[in-house]
Amino acid sequence: MSDADTTEDPGELRTPIVAVLGHVDHGKTSLLDKIRGSAVIEGEAGAITQHIGATAVPLDVVSEVAGSLVDPTEFDLPGLLFIDTPGHHSFSTLRSRGGALADIAILVVDVNDGFQPQTEEAIRILKDTGTPFVVAANKIDTIPGWNPTEDAPVQQTYDNQSDRVRSQLDEALYELIGELSGAGFSSDLYWRVQDFQSNIGVIPVSAETGEGVPDLLTVLMGLAQRYMKSEMEVNIDGPGAGTVLEVKDERGFGTTLDVILYDGTIRQGDQIVVGGTNETIVTEVRALLKPRELAEIRTEKRFDDVESMQAAAGLKIAAPDLDEAMAGAPVRVVGDRDVEAVVEEVEAELAEVAVE
Ligand code: GDP
Repeated sequence: MSDADTTEDPGELRTPIVAVLGHVDHGKTSLLDKIRGSAVIEGEAGAITQHIGATAVPLDVVSEVAGSLVDPTEFDLPGLLFIDTPGHHSFSTLRSRGGALADIAILVVDVNDGFQPQTEEAIRILKDTGTPFVVAANKIDTIPGWNPTEDAPVQQTYDNQSDRVRSQLDEALYELIGELSGAGFSSDLYWRVQDFQSNIGVIPVSAETGEGVPDLLTVLMGLAQRYMKSEMEVNIDGPGAGTVLEVKDERGFGTTLDVILYDGTIRQGDQIVVGGTNETIVTEVRALLKPRELAEIRTEKRFDDVESMQAAAGLKIAAPDLDEAMAGAPVRVVGDRDVEAVVEEVEAELAEVAVE
């Protein structure tokens, strides 16, 4: 069986792509690590899938982590795909058909530190790209006197705090809500938000203790399900479309592309069109690679070959003539279309990214 089929089974609904933004040291990397870690612990072995450049957290793992916060029968989206590289640069260069590659973003703000220059910058980018986002008010465990309960939902851990700690947290959160308002966004603590389209949900979390992570996953899943379902409806068997994360030399494969696939299917042997620094590249997929399962890492081999991959997924493409491919450039499977038309499509999209 090809591994592509075990990664996701979204029917015609693909996994929403999630990116993490925020000021340096506010905890982007730690939060991603925590999400990955809790998903590995809570989920059945292998339930969480490591992709190239991304981590897939399937719905059953979300609901496992979120416990009573989530009723999995309310969802038909397959889960969440987190882009592993946090930060503004990758977010800004990663486009899909003119918009942001990520469908949703998490803006991480250190709850003690509040808005900082890169928080403002992230807000500007999110505004410009019209990307829906939630705010993770991180490091709640650093409030003096904090009484942590590992991996607990926010309300539960909040109830375990002293009055003094609670009021200090409240104060910090309201300051943050004020700063968001100053930036033009109306927001509130997520459990008070009725309409996530007009109000940004603020979720108190700790990337250190995992507190609030169940809430964060629940809100992301709910947001995607309620407001993005129609955008997630893709022709999963149609020609694949993706964005280059990175161009990398890989021993035994030559120049390869790390790609986030956001639409359709890509197969071994497919003719693809890739945006390049000078000329648009037309080539053929020699191999589709995904990270080798952890249990098998003893061997030298780092990748597994797969026959095909479906959106949304992160994968590595090995193909001839990729030296001039560019990070941020579009990748398209030609399928039964006219190759010239696909080349034009890729060039038009590249021009659009370049002027911004
Ligand atoms: P990034 O630059 O935004 O990716 O931030 P990092 O994830 O590297 O975190 C910066 C520092 O803050 C590291 O030393 C983390 O261990 C620490 N940190 C991140 N999140 C938390 C948190 O929730 N609680 C505590 N106590 N420390 C945290």
